[in-house]
Amino acid sequence: MARTRSQKQSIIEKLFKRDGFKCSICKYRIQEGPGSHYLLRSSIDHVVPTSKGGTNGLYNLALTHKVCNSLKSSEELTEELTQKCRERVRELERTVVKTCW
Ligand SMILES: [Zn+2]
Repeated sequence: MARTRSQKQSIIEKLFKRDGFKCSICKYRIQEGPGSHYLLRSSIDHVVPTSKGGTNGLYNLALTHKVCNSLKSSEELTEELTQKCRERVRELERTVVKTCW
């Protein structure tokens, strides 16, 4: 269990190094650390879903917000879906600001 967790962590670090702190779906910044909204933190997305034959290789993985990943689920990434993710992320960013105040 602990091993799986640290493997996942090292994949996330590699992806951060490769792609920067940017969500591959909405292109907004992924937020880590205290004070950030849970749903704006990083999640690992399969570019080609495993249900469609995608692998767990790094080239098939990308970082996204948790919220974007769950909105995308196993759908194809369309312009409409990207827009939906952006709106949701914006909304969540505002929520965090309000909570901080
Ligand atoms: Zn996103």
